[in-house]
Amino acid sequence: MLRATKIVATLGPASSDAQTLDRLVAAGIDVVRLNFSHGTVEDHKKRIELLQEAMRKHDRTIGVMADLQGPKIRIGKFVGSKVLLKTGQRFILDASSELGDTTRVGLDYPELIDDVRPGDTLLLDDGRIVMDVEHLEESEIHCIVRHGGELSNNKGINRQGGGLSAPALTAKDIEDIQIAAELQVDYVAVSFPKSGGDLRLARKLLHKAGSQALVIAKIERVEAVANLEDILHACDGVMVARGDLAVEVGDAAVPALQKKIIRAAREHNKFTITATQMMESMIHSPVPTRAEVSDVANAVLDGTDAVMLSAETAAGDYPVETVQAMARICHEAEKSTDPAALDRHFLDRVFTRIDKSIAMAALFTAHHLQVKAIVALTQSGSTALWISRLDCGVPIYAMTPDIRTRYKVSIYRGVYPLMMRYVGKDRDEMLFEAEEELIRSGAVEIGDLIVLTFGEPIGQAGGTNTLKLIRVGEHASA
Ligand code: PGA
Ligand code: MN
Repeated sequence: MLRATKIVATLGPASSDAQTLDRLVAAGIDVVRLNFSHGTVEDHKKRIELLQEAMRKHDRTIGVMADLQGPKIRIGKFVGSKVLLKTGQRFILDASSELGDTTRVGLDYPELIDDVRPGDTLLLDDGRIVMDVEHLEESEIHCIVRHGGELSNNKGINRQGGGLSAPALTAKDIEDIQIAAELQVDYVAVSFPKSGGDLRLARKLLHKAGSQALVIAKIERVEAVANLEDILHACDGVMVARGDLAVEVGDAAVPALQKKIIRAAREHNKFTITATQMMESMIHSPVPTRAEVSDVANAVLDGTDAVMLSAETAAGDYPVETVQAMARICHEAEKSTDPAALDRHFLDRVFTRIDKSIAMAALFTAHHLQVKAIVALTQSGSTALWISRLDCGVPIYAMTPDIRTRYKVSIYRGVYPLMMRYVGKDRDEMLFEAEEELIRSGAVEIGDLIVLTFGEPIGQAGGTNTLKLIRVGEHASA
């Protein structure tokens, strides 16, 4: 059985040499994430080149995601790069400060002072340090440290409960969208969106730059949770960005939100990525903790399309081992998902388009006849996406001549990209070529029953309107 859940690996200093990238590809990564908060354009370019080499060598199709930095607020630097803050002490955040010390530090977002009030709670370094705002004085935010500890240069700040006015796309993000378009990435992740408008703007800028990249909304603000419906209409996929989300909404609220976001996204025909600290201990350990194993398995059971690795692959000591462990956990968890659950929600689905009804018919047929594979002959990949929104336990092959579509579908759960060589207008020839490729790639064998979907007339983009069941090797025109 193929692994259905996809693995997104963030590339960084620990995973940017040819050998490690090659091993990551061999270990089964499906998408790489370029984190635009770190590294130069040259770094990203080089990684893409090395990835392409490894893909060719292993005959794999791996998507590339650019993750924009967004309005992440950070403190400045300290004399000696870090300080130890004591619980109960006073501390000042001040955008006009130079190098910080144990009494104060600078800020890269002078507007923070307009967004906070006395009594607010600020969380630094992903919540490791907690401060309460006591009063505001000119450009200074005076705080009392509630939970002290070590604080080092450039750590992030979040306001508990959200409410920061910073727009999702900063000037740097707007430049980075241009770069992402030039690098021909397949997905762009927008950090800290508040509403659908932020995603629509990102998409508009991408189109202007000549990119058709899929737009991912990172759900990591209180406002994004409140506007989830609007966001789901505007994006192609969502990331449950548990790092910042946990700080904004409180960590205990995250597991239920994860389930809610994944369910809602699937209902809206959008894909999902579950991210952050999934295998955190593997940054320095060759094996995961029991809790991490459960976390990854539960994300699979929740129905996520992909699970993501951040520092584990970007800066960890065991990037390859982490991917191998994650792949093993996903695979095992998938065995215990219940495809029979399909019948129960299936009947509630409302579809009004011919192509969607063909997708649903393919799914239903596959479920009942125990077919070996569903094969969607597709231009845009949408048929494959729709079929994959309900788990039927049957692999879905998205066959297309369009290379960009093959990259895009690599993140969809249970969907596998395959090359379609035939671009003519003859239906029988097309089906013959499809069968050949399915056999050649090892997807199916002679005698397997498969479901195919395609659009007629052949060679015209869009409009899946045909469903066909064939036994491989007994092809005859119908
Ligand atoms: P980040 O986003 O890693 O870019 O912060 C993910 C998260 O917040 O979980
Ligand atoms: Mn984040």
